Amino acid sequence: MKIAVLPGDGIGPEIVVEAVKVLRALGLSLELETAPVGGAAYAALGHPLPASTLKLAQDADAILFGAVGDWKYDTLDRHLRPEQAILGLRKNLGLFANFRPAICYPELVNASSLKPELVSGLDILIIRELTGDIYFGQPRGRRIATDGNFPDAEEAFDTMRYSRPEIERIAHVAFQAARKRSKRVTSVDKSNVLETFQFWKDVVIEVSEQYPDVALDHMYVDNAAMQLVKAPKKFDVIVTGNMFGDILSDEASMLTGSIGMLPSASLDANSKGLYEPSHGSAPDIAGQGIANPLATILSAAMMLRFSLNQEEAAQRIENAVKSVLAQGLRTADIYSEGTTRVSTIEMGNAVVKALR
Ligand code: NAD
Repeated sequence: MKIAVLPGDGIGPEIVVEAVKVLRALGLSLELETAPVGGAAYAALGHPLPASTLKLAQDADAILFGAVGDWKYDTLDRHLRPEQAILGLRKNLGLFANFRPAICYPELVNASSLKPELVSGLDILIIRELTGDIYFGQPRGRRIATDGNFPDAEEAFDTMRYSRPEIERIAHVAFQAARKRSKRVTSVDKSNVLETFQFWKDVVIEVSEQYPDVALDHMYVDNAAMQLVKAPKKFDVIVTGNMFGDILSDEASMLTGSIGMLPSASLDANSKGLYEPSHGSAPDIAGQGIANPLATILSAAMMLRFSLNQEEAAQRIENAVKSVLAQGLRTADIYSEGTTRVSTIEMGNAVVKALR
């Protein structure tokens, strides 16, 4: 089983090394190869997604990804910015289905910014479409000011687009996922205002006819944002577009205690996938040894389950994470009085110990 390891920028290398430690401790036959991506790749090779990194990712059975981005690259042309690496990987590898489970572990009920009774027992799954929407729409750009000077442009635009096949395939993924859970799907859109999302809604309804055993409801994204903090446990599977999914899943992360707890899987049509924490490169805490590695470690568990067919190993990791939380070990982001604060490395070591 060949895994491409792409640590990236900021806290990426710090958290990925802990997930790699956990993977190695499983005693499976895993071939791990590391390559630069994002700002680190731009600095080393002049491009955020060098051809050699893309090839490694294409040839691998699965990809373990840290995070990309750093403020120091904000002035680069957009196509050279670190974030283009993750967009390029998603597009080139056809990774269209992003699974973001938001589970509130009982030990972290008090780490959430919401009241314990609202999040206790929470287990929802956000499925975000990844390769369409305004992130990839054409045309896009800035209208050049009369003197041809880019920074003085008078207007900028990005086009929101979805094609029928793109909506159909993500809807199928959501209905099939719901069949393994409580058989309920909420499709989140903005069909009251946007033509793209009226089309989204129409196509989701069409696909739902093939899943008569799954209940479908629809919610506008503004209402969904409100309901997620009002009564999050009313949701089960949420399916939505690229941008709404990006925003709602960050919101949902706080229900679980911290964005440092939220893993993700981005899958193609054959369950090959890229696995990464839902958060970014957190440049504000990089190098301090305080980042929470659990979202990345839990992403590695998802990798074993979805792409490598190693359900037992996935459960071993998830149980080890539950065990360290039960021991009271906490990185700074999930710390509360009465628990023990640990560093990134100490948290990784504790998960390895719990595995054994
Ligand atoms: P972020 O997710 O990096 O950080 C948001 C906040 O959460 C910060 O205060 C950070 O310290 C905290 N945080 C994030 N991960 C944490 C962890 N594991 N443990 C403890 N605290 C954690 O979002 P941002 O600050 O908006 O973006 C920073 C950079 O990351 C930007 O360049 C952005 O483009 C990039 N980004 C990359 C990805 C990706 O690689 N897939 C995703 C989102 C953002």
